[in-house]
Amino acid sequence: MKILLVEDEAKTVTFLKKGLSENGFVLDVAQDGETGLHLATELSYDLVILDVLLPERDGWDVLQKLRERDRNMPVLFLTARDSVPDRVRGLKAGADDYLVKPFAFSELLARIWTILRRNAKRDNEFLRFAGLEMDLLRRTVFRDTKRLDLTAKEFLLLELFLQHPQEVLSRTFIAERVWDMNFDSDTNTVDVAVRRLRKKADDPFPQKLIHTIRGMGYILEDRS
Ligand code: CA
Repeated sequence: MKILLVEDEAKTVTFLKKGLSENGFVLDVAQDGETGLHLATELSYDLVILDVLLPERDGWDVLQKLRERDRNMPVLFLTARDSVPDRVRGLKAGADDYLVKPFAFSELLARIWTILRRNAKRDNEFLRFAGLEMDLLRRTVFRDTKRLDLTAKEFLLLELFLQHPQEVLSRTFIAERVWDMNFDSDTNTVDVAVRRLRKKADDPFPQKLIHTIRGMGYILEDRS
């Protein structure tokens, strides 16, 4: 799940970046409205978290332009203003929800999941391969009938494999998608994470699904 955060306050950005990535989201950040609008127009996100008071272009304007461009990705407004007319204005302008600062992270998270559930198309909620079934909204993974207890990073890693079955994924590709950064010098992180994932997703089962392709990377493949 990929979220765009449009927010100019460094403190809030740091706080949300940490919290959301710990919960398995991939986050892009724009620190002004113009950049936010550009990213939301050019790329695809499961959710946009949008501050109202922003440099260059305010949140109202970003939302209006997004809707004019027929970008119907869900938008959650974050704002310090707490007046009823502002809330009404936000929802009328096409925001999916509205959260007033300061807020508890747990409340933000609950609202994010509510919006994502509401907007999810049935077919997109699950990723399946061989005996694996990942429920993206409930954040659960089963292999056959056994539930796998994965950390947020392991979940993201398996999600990436499930999105690219039977494709060789390089360590760099995995590092960029799962950690949102480039580990040119430290692809060992990827190897360690894959090993941990295998321990849970492959080791207890006779049929192995995650394979090493020497010198290239990893592949999710059913070799039975
Ligand atoms: Ca602001």
